[in-house]
Amino acid sequence: MEGKAVKFGGTSLCDARQMQKAADIVRADEKRKAVVVSAPGKRSRDDEKITDLFIACHHVKDETRREALFSLIQSRFDGIIAELRLPLDFSEEYKTMRTLRGDALVSRGEYFSARIFAALLDYTFADAAACIFFRADGTTDERRTRAALTERLARAPKGIVVPGFYGSTPYGGIRLFSRGGSDITGAIVADATDADIYENFTDVRGFLLADPHIVEDAVTVPLLSYRELRYLSAKGAGVLHADAILPLRKRQIPTVIRCTDDPHGPHTWIVPHKERGVGGIVGSTGYTLFGVERTHVGDDPAAIGKIASLLSREGFAPLFLSQEPDTVTFLLRHCDFARADALAVALQNETDAEIVTVRGGLAEVAVAAEGFTPEMRAAVWRALETSGVRPCFALCGNEAFSLTVGVQETELHETVRRIHESLAPFVATPDA
Ligand code: ASP
Repeated sequence: MEGKAVKFGGTSLCDARQMQKAADIVRADEKRKAVVVSAPGKRSRDDEKITDLFIACHHVKDETRREALFSLIQSRFDGIIAELRLPLDFSEEYKTMRTLRGDALVSRGEYFSARIFAALLDYTFADAAACIFFRADGTTDERRTRAALTERLARAPKGIVVPGFYGSTPYGGIRLFSRGGSDITGAIVADATDADIYENFTDVRGFLLADPHIVEDAVTVPLLSYRELRYLSAKGAGVLHADAILPLRKRQIPTVIRCTDDPHGPHTWIVPHKERGVGGIVGSTGYTLFGVERTHVGDDPAAIGKIASLLSREGFAPLFLSQEPDTVTFLLRHCDFARADALAVALQNETDAEIVTVRGGLAEVAVAAEGFTPEMRAAVWRALETSGVRPCFALCGNEAFSLTVGVQETELHETVRRIHESLAPFVATPDA
């Protein structure tokens, strides 16, 4: 397709005004032919996302409470329809909605959102149930999906609007992607329709070097590589779903993250390759550090194997930090106090350890940068030294690409702020 695939997130479609802004963006460029939408998100800090309301409907047992949630959902959609003066009536769909459960029910947020947005744009509604196909193992069936989407697009007089977040299973049911999955639908649509560009419109000014809740004046990173974005998303950066990068990377589709409220303002290009420059800084909490100590434990293959298989049986993917002759150290995420205690006992039994040390309450700050230069690393160390933060571990990834620093959870924000300050001058420009 000579064109662009465009995706709007929940905040960009949270009410009639935002929908109107998003529609103006689509109309401003006739290449914007394939559009993917999220369900309406929060209108204010204390508001509810439509998807969260649907999830609550699925879980709630009490009929009166369930009905109250349905009424709330209906009034949000009906309010948007009335304000936009669209000739839409969902009475029948609202009846069907009450008979649904699970993924099928939760998918209705994107379904209604896409119906409204298609009517607003006068585009063709292309239900994801009829054009995004999962295989039995949960992967997407690219061949069927591509055939259905290209056919839909070719027949549409102006363009198509596809609901994000769901598709259909080989057994005719509805299946959801994980949370934030409309980004994945957008990437699949970009790939399947051979789009030249994937534009992802969100509520932030592109990809910021650090979380704006921590660093108020975080700078926009104008250029990111696929690899940086995948790493940073996997570490918890919320701008684009980590799995959305996979379909884009396959066909090397340039992707741009723009802000719906300021579509021509600061934005981020995500490209296959970039020479150098910092990509992002992501902090996350909930880590526990374990040390297994015994003479020769670090060079005893059987002991190392036992540690790894015990952790894997318990559902953990450990990050091994160091292997000294008499100590093996690793990091686990989301291991609460009681579980850590039980694990320490099991590790001691399985490896004949003399001591197993456990240190919780740790945070990780991950930095990704293509061509992480010695100057950049030195800037990070200097910043940490002057801040007084004492990292409890530090790891350099392969090929000078990533750096991970462990600190106390209480020091996380200060660490992120200091690293942001030290690396902001190393942000790459679009011609790097
Ligand atoms: N509405 C879904 C969610 O809240 C999917 C998305 O917005 O991407 O997770």
